[in-house]
Amino acid sequence: MTEIESWLEHLEQKGGRITGPRRAIVELMVNSDHALSPVDVFDQARGKYPKMGLVTVYRTLEILSELGLVERVHQHDGCHMYLRAAHGHEHLMICSSCGKADYFSGDDLSPLIERISKESGFSIQSHWLQLHGLCRDCHKEN
Ligand SMILES: [Zn+2]
Ligand SMILES: [Zn+2]
Repeated sequence: MTEIESWLEHLEQKGGRITGPRRAIVELMVNSDHALSPVDVFDQARGKYPKMGLVTVYRTLEILSELGLVERVHQHDGCHMYLRAAHGHEHLMICSSCGKADYFSGDDLSPLIERISKESGFSIQSHWLQLHGLCRDCHKEN
């Protein structure tokens, strides 16, 4: 089973019928290495499926995010973008200029988490790290 088929199967279990627009959205999200806003998804998926509706895009992204297949990425301006979820425990780097996303693994947050936990009384169970900056291509242009 391809990743696209597997996403569609999950989507079907959660949200009902698989339609042409939903399939186009899933194909786009599986293959994109850039974080996309709902409007980006709408514009790009419309190329494949001209009758795409923006409401369908929002609803489908919401379901995919509930399923943990895409991650909601927070931008500085308060907008949300969406990105294929990491495989396993990885951390996200994201370009503030073009939205290109990459993952890295390995961190040594344990001493920090232990200290914060002690100071705050929080029992910390997981973390999600997101680094913002400029990707190699955008960095070169400046
Ligand atoms: Zn960039
Ligand atoms: Zn980590």
